[in-house]
Amino acid sequence: MQTVGIVRGKDGAHSFKLPQPEIINPDDVLVRIKQAGLDGTDYGIIRNKKYDIAEDRNELAMGHEMAGVVEAVGADVKGIAPGEPVTMTVRRGCGICEPCLHNQSDMCMTGLYTERGIHKLDGYLTQFVVDREQYVVKVPAELAQLAVFTEPLSIAEKAIEQIKIIQSRLPWTCPHPQHTFDSNDWGSCKNALVLGAGPLGLLSTALLRLDGVHTWTADILPPDSAKALLVKRMGANYIDSRNKTAKELIESCSLAGDISIIIEASGAAATALELINYLARSSIYVMTGIPGEDALAQVDASQIVRKIVRENQVVVGSVNSNRTHFEMALRDIARINASFSGMLTDMITHRYKLGDFEQAFAPKDAKHIKTVIEVDPW
Ligand code: BGC
Ligand code: ZN
Repeated sequence: MQTVGIVRGKDGAHSFKLPQPEIINPDDVLVRIKQAGLDGTDYGIIRNKKYDIAEDRNELAMGHEMAGVVEAVGADVKGIAPGEPVTMTVRRGCGICEPCLHNQSDMCMTGLYTERGIHKLDGYLTQFVVDREQYVVKVPAELAQLAVFTEPLSIAEKAIEQIKIIQSRLPWTCPHPQHTFDSNDWGSCKNALVLGAGPLGLLSTALLRLDGVHTWTADILPPDSAKALLVKRMGANYIDSRNKTAKELIESCSLAGDISIIIEASGAAATALELINYLARSSIYVMTGIPGEDALAQVDASQIVRKIVRENQVVVGSVNSNRTHFEMALRDIARINASFSGMLTDMITHRYKLGDFEQAFAPKDAKHIKTVIEVDPW
């Protein structure tokens, strides 16, 4: 079957053939890939030559965001049937640590996990894939066309889940008990800054706005760019952060002293670090962007440490997601698209056939938001 990925000893993305996978275990599911999405990690693998091919292999199929249809199932598969739309998680646990043994490989403690399309395991830029039922998530039929967003949205779901879990240490952030981080109405009376208006920044903004958080989203693009317009469509404020220092960036938020949530989704490491200096008291800063290149920065280390300690701040990293976050994402996909007039549909700015992978990986202009590979159009 036709596959796109990386090949040992060569740079760039390549097309090659892999044998079609077959059902071996009784809980295996064979999935026909319909769509695969590309994100910053995929572009970064190629640009920064971060190749992680399994030792006994010479190539790795790329792609970790997908939507597909079940083609066949093993004898023990009870929850999914052929013909049903599905999506699949990315990480496969180490099989050793407790989180991995309890379906939380996103919190793996050994680092010995693998990831489809990224670390050692074939991904979804191909025609078929087989995996155990526990990694295959059923998609409601009416969401099939948007299911390719489940994985990126699951990353934002996990980041916001972490915020809520950690910040439930604060029972009184405002006078309203119904606004505590563990309530349904948690977003009211809260202000957030999202760094980056790429897919992850936009999806994080969407979740914050759905829950009523007053949000500013920043990117190094003009205010009339496609990403900025989507930010505004969600009722969030857009900050053009070109030529802005971290201080100027935070001062662009009208409630600058009161930003209690920062989500870093740009991978711009130096600004990300410097922003710690401008966190409000007791606030939380979640980093989700993974910087690709080295970025040496001069910071006042004492000032940063003083600030975190004296102001009870939390800086936390959040990576990957597990099945529960995929299920949360599937619940929110329809809400996002309906609340923000087809925003997810509009985020897909570029579509390519699998054979046109070179164009799909080529650098894009400012209009680009999300690339989807139409492996087998719906
Ligand atoms: C993926 C995650 C993955 C991370 C690091 C991201 O692009 O969405 O699932 O864990 O890259 O490999
Ligand atoms: Zn583990």
